[in-house]
Amino acid sequence: MELLEQKILNEGRVLSESVIKVDSFLNHQIDPVLMQQIGGEFADRFANEGVTKIITLESSGIAPAQMTGLSLGVPAIFARKRKSLTLIDQLYSASVHSFTKNETNEISVSKDYITSDDKVLILDDFLANGQAVLGLMNIVEQAGASLAGVGIVIEKGFQDGGKILREQGIRVESLATIASLANQKITFTKEGASV
Ligand code: 5GP
Repeated sequence: MELLEQKILNEGRVLSESVIKVDSFLNHQIDPVLMQQIGGEFADRFANEGVTKIITLESSGIAPAQMTGLSLGVPAIFARKRKSLTLIDQLYSASVHSFTKNETNEISVSKDYITSDDKVLILDDFLANGQAVLGLMNIVEQAGASLAGVGIVIEKGFQDGGKILREQGIRVESLATIASLANQKITFTKEGASV
């Protein structure tokens, strides 16, 4: 997605050879117009998959998930990283090791919001080693729901997540794929090229 790549080039800050900060439009301040376009793009790509629910992880996945839900006309659920005091329902839980924070969170979703009738689209802001998506897939599986695919705003193609998921036959759609962050330079993988 050309507009997203431009935004990453103009506003992304390369923190290391493997981490990029995009706080000005995705991870702290949110650009609602860009999020709307991102939502429309995911909705187009997954239009024929019969998606009934979107699931993401708090907090940075919420904005793109909500906008995609708006375009597809389905609800968006965010897995919580901490158990809320008001979340007294039965939960589906999974462990997720965070790439950027180097900590493991127990993520959870209420059993009220995902059932075996659902076809779920997993969305997230970044794909690095795939731990967040694998945790969400675990929850989808526990619910007996089926998986429509995975939508990622920014995939880092030089890390293993995309490969691990695609090797399992999962449809992964990334709107921008970073090939390298070496020498403070952001380069993208051309759409359609193998990552
Ligand atoms: P994974 O679980 O695929 O290893 O990492 C994905 C999660 O880590 C995303 O939910 C995202 O929050 C965070 N993450 C991974 N790499 C980056 C990065 O380069 N920049 C930012 N801002 N977040 C990242």
